[in-house]
Formats: sequence, structure tokens, C-alpha cells
Amino acid sequence: MSVPGKMPELFWLEPQLRALRRARAQGRLPHGLLIQDAPGGGGGQLALMAAQAALCREAEAPCGRCQTCRQVEEQRHPDLWMVGLEKDAQQIKVDQIRELCDSLALTGYSSQASAAIIDPATALNANAANALLKTLEEPRAGVLLVLVAGAAARLPATVISRCQRLRVQLPGREQCLAWLRQHGGAGDWETVLDVLGNSPLRALAVAPAELRRLRDETWSALEQARRGQLEVAATAERWVRDAFDLRLSCAETWVTQRIVGQLTAPASVTEVHTGAHLPAGDSSMNIRGLFRLADQLRELAFLATTSINKALALEHVLWQVPRTA
Ligand SMILES: [Zn+2]
Repeated sequence: MSVPGKMPELFWLEPQLRALRRARAQGRLPHGLLIQDAPGGGGGQLALMAAQAALCREAEAPCGRCQTCRQVEEQRHPDLWMVGLEKDAQQIKVDQIRELCDSLALTGYSSQASAAIIDPATALNANAANALLKTLEEPRAGVLLVLVAGAAARLPATVISRCQRLRVQLPGREQCLAWLRQHGGAGDWETVLDVLGNSPLRALAVAPAELRRLRDETWSALEQARRGQLEVAATAERWVRDAFDLRLSCAETWVTQRIVGQLTAPASVTEVHTGAHLPAGDSSMNIRGLFRLADQLRELAFLATTSINKALALEHVLWQVPRTA
């Protein structure tokens, strides 16, 4: 089976595509579909496949080859609406949703079916989510609303309860490595996955050598921070300017390795377990503090898409590092 999509084939989405085909064949496509994406998991691509399932007229819909499927893939089908963040906006505004619902209430342009994709749905503000509810509750026949969200927990329960969920499952490490070598060429993909997790599309977007450089630099800054020797404000400024999200991932990996080191190494044999990545002295790091640090870094990665002052927020986190020691 081929996965529609102009990108390299996203093999890990095949079970979800099969589920969409089955639902379409049985006339059971839902009105509301919530795609629970994982970082680099291709949730946006899966949303387009769902729209194809709603709009494609071929027997094996979505066929991925007909004119409709191609137009959906290129996001220029007249019965497909895309709603996302407007330039420099932090939230999807209620007016965007009202406009969408008005459009969907009208008959489809070239067919009865219409599809709308809201991505990222977590950017819906409370008013926008409320405005969406009526369409989710009583949609015109043939309307499919697809919401793409990284963390469903951040959506209002009223919206979640009206959607069927489709979860993106990331591939295993070996499959991920093979796919990256096939589509990204040779390189130290192991290190990329160590930092980013099995996050294929996110991994494919980075150059392995560059990520390695970022990781080494970030880890050495954190070591300095641990010893209380880091120029915190200057470092925070620099990270925000240069590959902020990747640096946060590098920092999270540093913390996670220390947590693992603490959990697996009894104090007396810490020396044995402290390899190249675990400098001596880790045993003195406070495990609760490390977990808190990991939480703060994840929260920061989420907030980075909002209007917060990133440098200031990062400074706050960096100041915590010596306190975990
Ligand atoms: Zn088609």
C-alpha cells in the first residue's frame, strides 16, 4: 500500500491510513477527528490523508493518485479548509473559526463532502473552541473536521469528547534509523535520535553533524552551569537566537541521562557507570531536582510557541541547574 504524500513514504502512518480507508469504505468516517500527533510524527500529513479519505471519489479512497487527492495534498482543493496560526499570532482566533463554520455550513463547491484541518488545535483559544462546538455537534452531512494536536490534554474536554481519536505511533529506533539513512543519506543518525527521540520527520530536518555540535556545546554549557560557572544571561540570549528548540532537546537529553545514571547506579559503583557522557560527581545530583528540571525544559519547549520572553524563561531554568547538584 502506498501512503499518499509528497514526502518520503511515511511508513509508520500505514495502520492509521488503513483505519481511514476502512472507515470510509464502511461509511463510518466521523465528523470530528482528533489526530494526536507526536513530535516529528507527521500528524499534519495524516490530517491531509483524512481529508483525502473524505473527498476522494475513487473506490479505494483515499487513492492518493486522483486529481482530488493531489489537490488535497497540495492544499488547494476547493472543499478543503486549512486553519492555522496567522502570521505572528499565538492563538487561533474566534473569527477564523466563525468564518470556517460559515463556509462549512454552505454546500460543498464541487461535491457534498467538505474537509477542514485545524492545526495546531492546541492554539484554539477558549472562544474559538466554543465557536467550533456547534459545528462539531451538528455538522452538515459530509463534513469532516480534523484537529491536529500534540498534547490532547491541552484541548477543552468539550472538544475532545466530540472527536474520534487517531493516534500517531512513532516507529521503533531501528526502523527510524533505516528510514533516515534511506532518505537523509549517511550520517550520525544515532546521535540525532538520542537527542530527538524516534522522531523521524524532525530528525530528517536536521543535519547530523550540526546537531552533534549543538549537543556538545549545550552539554558543556550545562556542565558549567552545574558548577555555577555559566554566564547564564548571555547563554540564554544565544540559545534563543540559535536553534532554540534543538538546544532544549539537547538539554533535556543531558538531564535525562543524569536521571538514568542516578536510577541505575548505586552510589558505591557510580564510578563504573560514569562513562564519557556521565562525568564524575553526578551521584551528588538531586534526583527530584533533575525531574523538576526535565519538566521545566519540556514546558519551556511548549511555551516557546507562545509570546513568552524565551530568554528570561530559559534563564530561570538555567539558574536551577546548580541547585540540583
Ligand atoms: Zn483519490
